[in-house]
Amino acid sequence: MKQVLTVSCKLQVTPEQSTKIDGTLQAFAAACGYVNETVQPTLMNELAIQSLVYHDVRAKFGLSAQLAIHAIRRVSGNRKTAKKDGKPVGSFAPTSATYDARTFSFREKDWTVSLTTIDGRERFSLAIGNYQIGLLKGQKPKTATLCQRKDGTYYLNIQLESTPPEPEKTSKVLGCDLGRTDIVVTSEGDKFSGKEITRIRECYASLRANIQQKATRGTRSTRRRCRELLKRLSGKERRFQELVNHTISHRLVTRTKLSNQAIALEDLTGIRERTNQLPHTKKERRLSNSWAFFELRQFLIYKAIKHGVHLVFVNPRYTSQTCHNCNHIHPVRGESYRSGKKFSCGHCGWNGDADYNGAKNISALGATVNAPEGSEMLSCSLSEHVLRAVESPTLAHERVA
Ligand SMILES: [Zn+2]
Repeated sequence: MKQVLTVSCKLQVTPEQSTKIDGTLQAFAAACGYVNETVQPTLMNELAIQSLVYHDVRAKFGLSAQLAIHAIRRVSGNRKTAKKDGKPVGSFAPTSATYDARTFSFREKDWTVSLTTIDGRERFSLAIGNYQIGLLKGQKPKTATLCQRKDGTYYLNIQLESTPPEPEKTSKVLGCDLGRTDIVVTSEGDKFSGKEITRIRECYASLRANIQQKATRGTRSTRRRCRELLKRLSGKERRFQELVNHTISHRLVTRTKLSNQAIALEDLTGIRERTNQLPHTKKERRLSNSWAFFELRQFLIYKAIKHGVHLVFVNPRYTSQTCHNCNHIHPVRGESYRSGKKFSCGHCGWNGDADYNGAKNISALGATVNAPEGSEMLSCSLSEHVLRAVESPTLAHERVA
């Protein structure tokens, strides 16, 4: 099982080098565009496309052999994703190019990289901090992506491959219920409250609404300025949420690692259904359906894999409806012991936080699945979830800005 970590490194570029990079990025994008236009749209196989246009691409755009192959590979990849999404392949902007061991090398001695451009090989210093240095130390990266950001600066996103430690089997399972009011509630009763975050995001939302209103009434230049401001705000909000998610997932994973516990989560599709089922206001819907929710899941998953913490995915059916104390569900169809954040069992009389009750159920289900010596109680659907969790390490992907 491999995990890929992307380290984003700013390049120090002289004006002459900048011209060479720009030329390379433009040639790469132009080559992609050319391949996409000349080769019949139904052809997706990389080698098939290559056999048709490789020589043309090299002759027309002055790309090195490897860069030409990567341009073709990108078109092939984009076509495959486009087909999956049912959308046409978009245009290719001159903002990124793919590098591999033959076109890129990293030198730790002086923290530099050398890259093939359309005008020969160039060496660049990396403008990086201790964090990136720590990650790159002793590594021999084989792939990277050269990017130009909107502000004109150049970055090299270096991919590091690592094999995470094999997770230990354990019968101790920490159930995590991801929710709306509280971001996470664990089966040990820990809560990461979403109150403060919700408040800050609400501030952003009302600010946005305000600006939008101004934009519709204002002159042309006001409208343009408002658009720019909105863009900046959305970036700020996203980074804030990302930081919160990183912090929470990091704490949960280190804690379970130290106490040799596995982490149990609900299956993703189930969560989407559940949050959509509940009647809620427009405001709540914006919060629950947001990418933030799924981002936290993704962070939890890749950090768990990275640190060798076992992951269990449980069937989310009834985790919120069942009383963890006596395993009873409300006997009347359509009725529930749960009401918002409160859970009050009509059978044994247990009272408490509904998400805590959910987390307890997730933990209990996870423990059945994760029992070290086989598990006869395991239902088919549950074992599938576990397999899927183990087999999807491709999800795990970190970006270090
Ligand atoms: Zn009960």
